[in-house]
Amino acid sequence: MKKSHIRIVTLGALAAFAFAFSFLLPAAQEKPKLKVFISVDMEGISGIVHGDQTTPGTAEYAAGRKWMAQDVNAAVEGALEAGATEVVVNDSHGSMRNIDPDDLHPRAILISGSPKPLSMMQGIDASFAVCLLIGYHAKAGTEDAILDHTISGSVVRAIRVNGAELPELGLNAAIAGYYGVPVVLVSGDTAVCRQTSEILGKDVVTVAVKEAYGRLAAKLVPMGEARRLIKAGVKDALGKLGRVKPFKIAPPYNFELGYHVSAQADMAAMLTEVKRVDARTVAFTADDFILGFRKLRALIALAPAR
Ligand SMILES: [Zn+2]
Repeated sequence: MKKSHIRIVTLGALAAFAFAFSFLLPAAQEKPKLKVFISVDMEGISGIVHGDQTTPGTAEYAAGRKWMAQDVNAAVEGALEAGATEVVVNDSHGSMRNIDPDDLHPRAILISGSPKPLSMMQGIDASFAVCLLIGYHAKAGTEDAILDHTISGSVVRAIRVNGAELPELGLNAAIAGYYGVPVVLVSGDTAVCRQTSEILGKDVVTVAVKEAYGRLAAKLVPMGEARRLIKAGVKDALGKLGRVKPFKIAPPYNFELGYHVSAQADMAAMLTEVKRVDARTVAFTADDFILGFRKLRALIALAPAR
């Protein structure tokens, strides 16, 4: 008797406490948060087939950066229509100052400039529900893939983590996975869509906006249609939350970096913790994926030009 009486009093006190404090909760609490992180690269943007369209200082760059904003805005619109409460866009190409903030969807938050510790994934954390990769491209050495490369076209021949060669989409999905965030959509050419399915699985939505005839030519999906496909793909991906699990690689990590020329590996191998694998390849280990990734970035950025 006595025991149950105490329980009733306790429950009553708890209910009164919750009622009293419910007035203090912000209105946003009524709607659950759905934060969406977008990393946007440039080579896989609708219309892009050549480096001139992705390089500042060329006559074609103004068009390229406008197309980039329009592809990402289609993704933002899809996310908002699917219930996103916050959308963060990380400019992830070259100088990472490609998107003119004036051209970005007014509801999206832009991360601009470089270098950044997490590079193409700067800004992601465990508070995000999902990650979208827009305008991505296939890994270095892929046939029929627009501007195929991995992080740096002049430095990197291949990157392997625990023996598996990864394109940028795989490395970045592993960063998202570190924070428990799944990559649910990738857009780009048909080659990057194929690599997405191979690495992240078939449940990840892929949106092909072009089909390459080589490294520098492609059959383009009409621009308006490409953006409709991106928007619809994002709505589809966000409509099935939980279908895709975060991409996680089990520790410890062996990072292997294949350079284009041996002089680049000569420099990297001067660091005591870096092991020489062969003339052009170095390797190092890390227990933490983020720390390993940061070392990888530094070894790429500090490499001498070939
Ligand atoms: Zn890029």
